[in-house]
Amino acid sequence: MKFSRLAHIPPRSARNVTLRVDRSGERALRQGHPWLFEAGVRSQSREGRSGDHAVIFDRDRRFLAIGLYDPSSPIRVRILHSGKPCPLDDDFFRRRLRAIVSLRAELERGGTNGYRLVNGENEGMPGFTVDRYDTTLVVKLYTTAWLPHLAQVLDVLLEVQPAQRVVLRLSREVSRRREALHGLFDGALIYGPEPERVLCFRENHLRFECDPVKGQKTGFFLDQRENRARVEGLASGRRVLNVFSYTGGFSLYAARGGAEQVVSLDASRPALAAARRNFELNRSDPAVCRARHEVRECDAFAGLESMSRRAEVYDLVIIDPPAFARREAEVAGALASYGRLVELGLAVLAPGGRFVMASCSSRVGPEDFYALVHRAASRARRPLEEIERTGHALDHPVGFQQGSYLKCLFARAS
Ligand code: SAH
Repeated sequence: MKFSRLAHIPPRSARNVTLRVDRSGERALRQGHPWLFEAGVRSQSREGRSGDHAVIFDRDRRFLAIGLYDPSSPIRVRILHSGKPCPLDDDFFRRRLRAIVSLRAELERGGTNGYRLVNGENEGMPGFTVDRYDTTLVVKLYTTAWLPHLAQVLDVLLEVQPAQRVVLRLSREVSRRREALHGLFDGALIYGPEPERVLCFRENHLRFECDPVKGQKTGFFLDQRENRARVEGLASGRRVLNVFSYTGGFSLYAARGGAEQVVSLDASRPALAAARRNFELNRSDPAVCRARHEVRECDAFAGLESMSRRAEVYDLVIIDPPAFARREAEVAGALASYGRLVELGLAVLAPGGRFVMASCSSRVGPEDFYALVHRAASRARRPLEEIERTGHALDHPVGFQQGSYLKCLFARAS
């Protein structure tokens, strides 16, 4: 068997679960929403197992949609197809994955072989994302409902996007469901050999290492690629501070863009060690080689405060914090933290300097975020003149409202 590590996963039930939905569920599905919530189900034929095919009918018993059933999640069905009935066979996944993969062709031509290959619900594959790092694919599942289909989908995926190995990552909720995992775990290698050395990939011709097993997200923050390229264009001759630097993504671009000095600040020691190695990996680039790069391992808030006490000054400050608000109850705290970071960042920014601030929290909408950044800047008496607002890149398309999360402001401070 090609995927021997998936051999213990039982197949889906031969019989589908049929469901009828209420008015709100029907409306959502007709509008192409990828989720049917538990609350929208009016009746169902039987209690199915995770991964069973769920066939959904409207109030007049007409076919509405088909998807994957998950009895343990409030998102009861992840919709794969709506409209006319159609089987979820190899051809179905082949057509879908081909279309998705072909959208990314231009990235490779631009010197990028690390990117999001499949963006979950935004591209008709709800709960299923794939990141590509050169010849390694990292599949991340947000529901156990994909498990009985994994061998089938991987087979088609590898046909459409050949790769040497596939690593499995699981969302926190899925990793907890040990009884449903049949020996699989977060970080399991499910296809191909163990890598002999650390994995490397290219982004806009820069080289990065990544650890798809232990790294944050699937090893790299692929969603910031275009914002990093914008930073490259602003960095010539500048002193650059990259707050929440992780493995130095923005820092490397700033260095290649001709920055004189680059400081990477993060609380994670392994991330900063990787940032150093990433600079080493790119020493053949004369600008990267020339830039003075330093790392600071500290809490961002405390670190910025002490930099400002020591009167350190930078010409370009980038702040790309983690998602402070994962739950609705955390939104107010997140907004306060963003505001504080703007004030602290501006306190070390030279007059007329460039300020870049991002938010990856889907619970904080773009209007609230930009307004908050401006308010905090005015409070700090450093009003911002906007250069650009940016969002999602080509490999992170937004297909439904909750799929939009990334916001980034590029501005000039007074
Ligand atoms: N800008 C990065 C991604 C940032 S991810 C890139 O382009 O790749 C968020 C980072 O914030 C992580 O590296 C995490 O270690 C760091 N972090 C989280 N809380 C922090 C804190 N309070 N102080 C400093 N760093 C923190």
